[in-house]
Amino acid sequence: MSSKPLERIGRSLALRLSLGYAAFFTAGAAVLFGLLYLLLASALEHKDREVIEARLKECAVVYESGGLRALDQLVERDRQSGKEKSFFVRVAGPRGSVMLLAVPDDWLQFNPAGIDQGRQASSVLWLRVPRDEERDLMLAAMPLSDGSVLQVGRSTNNRETLLQPFRRTFLLVVTPTLLLGVLGGAFAAHRAIAPVRQVVAMARSIIDTGDLSKRVPPGGGQTELAELAEQFNRMLDRNQQLIAGMREALDNVAHDLRTPLTRLRGTAENALQTTTEDNSREALADCVEESDRVLTMLRTLMDISEAETGAVTLNRSRCSLATLWQEVIELYEMVAENKRVQVTSTFDDPCEVEVDSARLRQAFANLLDNAIKYTPEEGHVEIRGRIERDHAVLEISDTGIGIPAAERARIWERLYRGDKSRSQRGLGLGLSLVKAFVEAHGGTIRVDERPGGGTVFRLQLPVSPHATGTAASNPDISRRLA
Ligand code: ADP
Repeated sequence: MSSKPLERIGRSLALRLSLGYAAFFTAGAAVLFGLLYLLLASALEHKDREVIEARLKECAVVYESGGLRALDQLVERDRQSGKEKSFFVRVAGPRGSVMLLAVPDDWLQFNPAGIDQGRQASSVLWLRVPRDEERDLMLAAMPLSDGSVLQVGRSTNNRETLLQPFRRTFLLVVTPTLLLGVLGGAFAAHRAIAPVRQVVAMARSIIDTGDLSKRVPPGGGQTELAELAEQFNRMLDRNQQLIAGMREALDNVAHDLRTPLTRLRGTAENALQTTTEDNSREALADCVEESDRVLTMLRTLMDISEAETGAVTLNRSRCSLATLWQEVIELYEMVAENKRVQVTSTFDDPCEVEVDSARLRQAFANLLDNAIKYTPEEGHVEIRGRIERDHAVLEISDTGIGIPAAERARIWERLYRGDKSRSQRGLGLGLSLVKAFVEAHGGTIRVDERPGGGTVFRLQLPVSPHATGTAASNPDISRRLA
């Protein structure tokens, strides 16, 4: 797997949520396990103490009433009856001499010297001696009336014997539960945050394509995330309205300026013909030139708006895209030669299509003009064409300066000019016109980075207006043409 999908998985909110829950679950289970273990251990210890203390008291009563002999008999009786867990019993005289000693088999290695504690205590004194991994020795001692001390003990299961099956059970139960929890949690979280993913994908798609008509599909439910998607769509609606309003205002301004500007240009041209004074002639010539420039801009804006709103009437006729391109290349032959940019075209097919050749020629000219303009000397521009099912596919690639990824969605906007291209002539309208004309024909256009540097524009044009993917079947275009 490449690092990108891994990175994406690492950034996944669903995974993080489920891992977070799993961590809390594990901590909770560990606390529960610890508490249960402590409770169990203390309950068992309590039980052990009860048994030992009862035996201690029994031995003390027997000793006080019948002396050492009676106690010895009791101990002997126990041993003969084979009690599974016989007791350690020791009576130490006032001077430390051992008066009675009964040691069970599993206490043989135990050295009772030094456990004379209890002599001074007025009641039962407890002592725990860890013996091995499985057993502890628990001992209770109490003073007797004659100054000697009675010690009674027994082996008890130590904590480790308890902990081991507990740990095993914990691992056996908790590990699959945890795994199930992580997987189930990840699945549930993945489903729950689907609206967030849709919003992100939609935002990315709108940024990449510049298509403001896209919306997040309405999801069921009343959750906050469904609301997020809904509000996101409302924001897009508002943005679209604002942009449409701005476009309309720009179209209106272009429309309203055209007539007075044409009149102004006419007046300046008339005055130029009758004026003899050099200064005035120069000023009037500038006036005519600048008016022409602004008029071209206004005309282009109007053409774009006409094509985008569907008000344009396409003069369709059957023509070959290979021939159309040849004409455009010839038109730019000098420009390309002057810049020492090589322009080549490769058509596997004449690419016969039913289109408005004048408008497409203008679109192709804009593309070639840009390709030559943004390609440094000794560069190469290549046009390729072929037919794929019912579409003509065109690729215009150049070895030029390229378009940064962040700018690619914006180049289709009216009056947009890339940062790197400010030094070149241009109005920022060429590609808007290309897109509007191509889409008016039911086609599509997109831009990509050329492998090895430069730019490649890919166009698809339906062979005939009735082919699939034409305006009629392209919801975006048919909406505009409606
Ligand atoms: P302009 O008049 O600036 O060329 P266009 O609408 O034709 O306006 O293009 C918009 C922007 O797209 C340009 O300013 C430029 O940044 C970028 N562009 C278009 N074609 C190319 C290309 N072939 N190579 C690099 N950049 C391009």
